[in-house]
Amino acid sequence: MVAVTIFDSLEFARTKQELLGKVEVVRLSRLADSLFDHTGSLGYRLTGDLDALQRPVVKVSVEGELHLECQRCLGKLPFLISSESSLLVLVHAGSAEGDAIEDLDGIPASAETDALVLVEDEVLLAVPFAPRHPEGQCNAAAGTANELRVSPFATLARLRQDTVQN
Ligand SMILES: [Zn+2]
Repeated sequence: MVAVTIFDSLEFARTKQELLGKVEVVRLSRLADSLFDHTGSLGYRLTGDLDALQRPVVKVSVEGELHLECQRCLGKLPFLISSESSLLVLVHAGSAEGDAIEDLDGIPASAETDALVLVEDEVLLAVPFAPRHPEGQCNAAAGTANELRVSPFATLARLRQDTVQN
């Protein structure tokens, strides 16, 4: 069974609804480049609410574990995600409302808001740009030592090549 993830953002906020679900990591296609593998799933919760100024907001929270790819050793880097954002539902796009948003993120009032898109946005914000294992836990440590030992020769070889080419 495929859960319904399309909802009306304004109605959802005003009537303070809640949407709970799970999304398989493999479905988060915009995340694919950062991942070591696509196993597992993330839990999410969307809650409609009105903020202190009685503006409609949708809170998005995501929890679970991703397997990122370490940028140094290209190995598996487990990453726990636990992230929450409040999104202001923008009723009149382009009006003075924009000035009131300040540092809040906004989404358009739409009857076809996709929960999974909001969840994926949230995950993308939470994932580090260049994930790496902590120092001492990275498999690249041994590789780096080897590289250092051979690098003078490699550099020489490259220099020679350049000279020949020039
Ligand atoms: Zn690593």
